[in-house]
Amino acid sequence: MTSPPAADTPKPSNFLRQIIERDLDQGTYAQRRFAGTPGDAAHHAAAPLDAARIRTRFPPEPNGYLHIGHAKSITLNFGLAAEYGGICHLRFDDTNPEKEEQEYVDSIVDAVKWLGFDWKVGGVDHLYYASNYFDFMYRAAEALIEAGLAYVDEQTPEQMRANRGDFNTPGTDSPFRGRSPAENLARFREMRDGKHADGAMVLRAKIDMASPNINLRDPAIYRIKHAEHHNTGDRWCIYPMYTYAHPIEDALEQITHSICTLEFEDQRPFYDWLLDTLCRLGLLAPPRPHQYEFARLNVTYVITSKRKLKALVDEKIVDGWDDPRMPTIVGLRRRGYTPEAIRLMCERAGTSKAGGWTDYASLDLALRDDLEGKAPRAMAVLEPLRLKLTNWAEVFGGAASEPCHAPAHPQRPELGERRFALGPELWIDREDFAETPPKGFFRLFPGNKVRLKYALVVECTGCEKNAAGEVTAVLASIVPDTRSGTPGADRVKVKGTITWVGAADAVPAELRLYDRLFTEEQPDAGGKDFKASLNPNSKRVVRGFVEPSLAALAPDSRVQFERHGYFVTDRLDHGAAAPVFNRIATLKDSWGK
Ligand code: ATP
Ligand code: MG
Repeated sequence: MTSPPAADTPKPSNFLRQIIERDLDQGTYAQRRFAGTPGDAAHHAAAPLDAARIRTRFPPEPNGYLHIGHAKSITLNFGLAAEYGGICHLRFDDTNPEKEEQEYVDSIVDAVKWLGFDWKVGGVDHLYYASNYFDFMYRAAEALIEAGLAYVDEQTPEQMRANRGDFNTPGTDSPFRGRSPAENLARFREMRDGKHADGAMVLRAKIDMASPNINLRDPAIYRIKHAEHHNTGDRWCIYPMYTYAHPIEDALEQITHSICTLEFEDQRPFYDWLLDTLCRLGLLAPPRPHQYEFARLNVTYVITSKRKLKALVDEKIVDGWDDPRMPTIVGLRRRGYTPEAIRLMCERAGTSKAGGWTDYASLDLALRDDLEGKAPRAMAVLEPLRLKLTNWAEVFGGAASEPCHAPAHPQRPELGERRFALGPELWIDREDFAETPPKGFFRLFPGNKVRLKYALVVECTGCEKNAAGEVTAVLASIVPDTRSGTPGADRVKVKGTITWVGAADAVPAELRLYDRLFTEEQPDAGGKDFKASLNPNSKRVVRGFVEPSLAALAPDSRVQFERHGYFVTDRLDHGAAAPVFNRIATLKDSWGK
């Protein structure tokens, strides 16, 4: 109910949809209440039944820019909520005081909105900060201590690691494990009151040091960190561990289905233990959330590690976080990918427990599927070469030019027509001429006829060269009575049609031709040096010409240049006086299998 439908329906089922449908059938969450804001059992107790049939959340840590992998998680969580009459929360998982910044909070808000999702439902803004739950988390920790289910451990980190055991060996109890609740409470309050140094002690859940799941061997749940927090300032010097904080965040927000990636599977038993315990102690209201894991999205020719992306920016291998070659949402946006294409690609990638790789080509395919019916067409010349029509005066007399027109979109007459002029001198693409044609070349070479698209047929008669022997202009003569759209125009058969722009009305433009950043499918697989497979041709900037109608385009407008691909006017650099186009994708996948 909060997001636009994806471009293709119906959607294939997957294990998450099956789980949600089962829960809806069985009424697992039918008695769940929601007080309008997050809170504990008492807060929700007197509230009405939750009108949202399910609640999901997207919980980024505000410590970097979102990337294409996050788009998968966003699409999934907001998409499922929308599909099943639910609500998806945007929650900043900001429990770690040191790494988080407002700049990232803002960029994440922008990115999720831009992808087409909204967390405001019926006037209620479901944007939350985990750091607002610190009071409850602290209270819950004291409750665990009082119930004999948590203790302060003063072993050194090394001792703790050694005593944890491993896959084959059970752990060993800490000498501090037997402390009384009263002693633990006093110690924990000292931790809170700043009486101890970072790392001096931690609060651990008291579960089972012999558990086959190492995550249940008394995991640490609170640590000392004398650090300023962007939201709570210096109010706290102890902070909850992620594994403790996350289930509580879900429960306070009355999340039903907590969806995460597979690396959290081992944490699920603790997630369950903690929430069951806090429900039993009366702090949280059942029915509680459940965690489900899916395989993360991996895209070929892309890296998504924040650290490695940062290296690309810091070492100036790319031009910033929003470089159009970056897999960040800001990068994809600047490149010209549409939110629809990104959502479509994520939907098509599917959701399962089995990991795998999604071909980067599927993003370009989704873009073409989205833009094919939408983007207006135009002609552009990327690497200009002059074409002189030597018999212009004989054919057209004193006229300086001949008006031409073409539909803005071949299947959508309602989009109208574009107008441009044919004159005695034109710009064509350098690659459309060959002095000595290779086999199968049907475009301009001496003696060959081609159609200038939307205009007429010309016959190539030769070329001009400079002192260095480089071709500076192509010469051709107009074949009479071949004007496009006139009776008998196709009397002269040609094998090639080329695009062009009139020299008199062409608009000069900067064209940024982007391609994949890496030449290898898995640039950082197995610890490989990803900088060894950088594609030297990932960015090429050329000065070309575009049709006159395009000078007036607003920034961030998409167009299909016939034969060349989909382009967008750069969001930041494009202007009428200096047009700048980014190539989003070519018309066909040129990366052979
Ligand atoms: P880090 O690598 O720093 O831990 P992260 O990628 O896990 O970062 P978070 O901000 O914690 O970043 O991620 C928010 C959500 O996005 C999490 O639920 C995470 O599981 C999900 N997510 C991150 N990467 C992917 C991916 N490649 N595919 C699907 N979901 C992802
Ligand atoms: Mg993470």
